[in-house]
Amino acid sequence: MNLKTLQRWSPGRHERRQCDAAGCRSGTKGGKQFCSSHVDLQPYVQDLLAQLAAQEEEIANVRRVGARAVDPSGIQTQEILSFLRVHGDKTVRGLARELNLEVEVARAYGRSLKRRGLVSLSKNKRGATLMRLRSKSRKPRPQVATPVAEVTADELAA
Ligand SMILES: [Zn+2]
Repeated sequence: MNLKTLQRWSPGRHERRQCDAAGCRSGTKGGKQFCSSHVDLQPYVQDLLAQLAAQEEEIANVRRVGARAVDPSGIQTQEILSFLRVHGDKTVRGLARELNLEVEVARAYGRSLKRRGLVSLSKNKRGATLMRLRSKSRKPRPQVATPVAEVTADELAA
């Protein structure tokens, strides 16, 4: 028995039910709790939105006050560490571009991660700041979920 089998046989999968959103009369597909207009009421989507909101708020704070606003257990820190783990050393500028951050924000994360001993910062030949994972952060750890990749547009529309 795996998750797929379980889902296949679970009651309600083919059941037609009505959306749980207050006042909504739409039916839902596949026994889902909410119709496609109210899919954002589903708990996992709300979790995801809450995490993304927290990430945005953190970045706004980092932009304002710098490295001390960095949350070392937040999604953004995890994203940077996983990125370096997968792609190897990266300039701050390159990292900023790849992760869609402002250079100053990426620099602040770099300082914070360096302070925690997770990365080292050095200058490359062209004088750009290079971020490199320290060995203690090289091993993949059980990851904080990276929910952005997990919810596809199809799922959101389902
Ligand atoms: Zn609805």
